[in-house]
Amino acid sequence: MRYTQYMLNTLKETPADAEVTSHQLMLRTGMIRKVAAGIYSYLPLGLRSLRKVENIVREEMNRAGAIEILMPMVVPGELWQESGRWEQYGKELLRLKDRKEASFCLGPTHEEVVTDIVRREIRSYRQLPLNLYQIQTKFRDEIRPRFGLMRGREFIMKDAYSFDLDEAGADKAYEKMYQAYRRIFERCGLKFRAVEADTGAIGGSFSHEFMVLAESGEDAIVSCDSCEYAANVEKAELRASGQPAPAPGQELQKVLTPARKTIEDVALFLETSAERLVKTLVVQTDTGETVAVLLRGDRELNDIKLTRLLGCNWVELAPEEIVLKVTGSPSGFAGPVGLKLRILADQEVQSMADFITGANEKDAHFTGVNLGRDFTVERFADLRQAVAGDPCPRCSGKLESWRGIEVGHVFKLGTKYSAAMEATVLDDKGQEQVLFMGCYGIGVGRTVAAAIEQNYDENGIIWPMPIAPFQVLVTMVNPKDQEVREASEKLYAELLELGVEVLLDDRDERPGSKFKDADLVGIPLRVTVGSRGIKEGALELQERRNGERTMLPVADAARLLA
Ligand code: ATP
Ligand code: MG
Ligand code: MG
Ligand code: MG
Repeated sequence: MRYTQYMLNTLKETPADAEVTSHQLMLRTGMIRKVAAGIYSYLPLGLRSLRKVENIVREEMNRAGAIEILMPMVVPGELWQESGRWEQYGKELLRLKDRKEASFCLGPTHEEVVTDIVRREIRSYRQLPLNLYQIQTKFRDEIRPRFGLMRGREFIMKDAYSFDLDEAGADKAYEKMYQAYRRIFERCGLKFRAVEADTGAIGGSFSHEFMVLAESGEDAIVSCDSCEYAANVEKAELRASGQPAPAPGQELQKVLTPARKTIEDVALFLETSAERLVKTLVVQTDTGETVAVLLRGDRELNDIKLTRLLGCNWVELAPEEIVLKVTGSPSGFAGPVGLKLRILADQEVQSMADFITGANEKDAHFTGVNLGRDFTVERFADLRQAVAGDPCPRCSGKLESWRGIEVGHVFKLGTKYSAAMEATVLDDKGQEQVLFMGCYGIGVGRTVAAAIEQNYDENGIIWPMPIAPFQVLVTMVNPKDQEVREASEKLYAELLELGVEVLLDDRDERPGSKFKDADLVGIPLRVTVGSRGIKEGALELQERRNGERTMLPVADAARLLA
């Protein structure tokens, strides 16, 4: 590609509304342009890196035996009604109507559509195991789209879904995907950890998130310094207090009997009422008990919240935690309407003992709370997250803590969707069996952004070779110099011939500004073609990552670069 025939417009200034490095650099290098909040166009340079990640993902999915399909982005509401998610999924689901008033949504994930395909196509256990995947545009109406491709509303995801006759089969499918994910992120040249993640509503099964380690990451994770243990702090087991954290869901199930409104009702209510970030929820039930629940809620209230509510976890009620207090009517969860929410100020949270014995001010009314029965002060000591230095729950090692960007997520689904949507097959005895499913997602754009978060310096991006938009940049120092032009053109042609992805900077610009752009755009290998070098019969090769320079003999340059 020739720079003069390409569309690559770099910006000198850092755009004011870009908070994290990857977003700033993707804008400055003209990889992406904003169309609306959380909605971007991928310009040529950005698209090249996206495609690189996509191809690595595709190759590894194929290698693992998954089969590529492509499902629609616009999904009929009926399918979502069948699974029950039409009601449960919050405002992240963009719902629309066609001219006949039929309901549709823009797919934020595709369990329903793929389950519908499989229940029609797959009849016998002989057609299993099956893993179907796609690389497709998703839409989630995120409450706070930000950080560019990191948290868009429209974004590209690879989503895969496995179908097996039984749980053992599903475990194998999961393991295959787990290994494929490791390969994918290794091949992308990223430093990452696969961490145990909370499974929420689906419960009972398990899940891992693939976290790219970066300071700007929205997730906190811990990993052991001497064994393989690693977990999202939301999930991390605590050993410090000598008491294990309550099992997910345990406390809530104890207090929420089926006759009452379910916690889902509360979650739905929260979804529509709360506008702030929520981390810890203290709810009072109609038995007068008060339970603290960890919500995923650091960003938005959606179905994720719902899942966290069901799979509750205890957390530290630290001063900086935002605590949401739900006060019930005397009959507890009498219905969403009766619930009032108030977010406590830091000072209030600090004096939790007062709080739990019942703050009687308006809109913060806790009746029947029994200090000692419902809570003791020691109990609150257990409500903490794992931190660096805590003993590892698996060995004698110590935990280290990191920030991470969730680039991938593998999940054992069990029969949640297949049971609701009656996706069954006949087993070897002719018996109908509900399929066991798994789902596996990778954020393609987020992976590109995460790669930049891990690979940059003050001058710009430092692409890992496997996902660099181009592998080699050939800079003509002075395109008006006949010799320079000829030597550059020759090298360019030879590199193309050898299959190297090369960008030729043939612009008539000052060398200084070309070098600045070269640093900013971050192509891993840069060959400078100048008249002095040509006279000496050598071209200068510089590596973007370490700045190392080597001289390449003109005649052999292309071969040495390929
Ligand atoms: P998050 O916790 O960041 O909101 P999620 O857990 O909701 O992500 P999943 O449903 O697990 O996301 O989707 C699979 C993958 O899709 C994620 O691991 C992430 O890489 C990517 N992804 C999810 N939401 C977005 C988004 N808004 N923008 C870009 N990528 C996303
Ligand atoms: Mg999300
Ligand atoms: Mg997540
Ligand atoms: Mg996830």
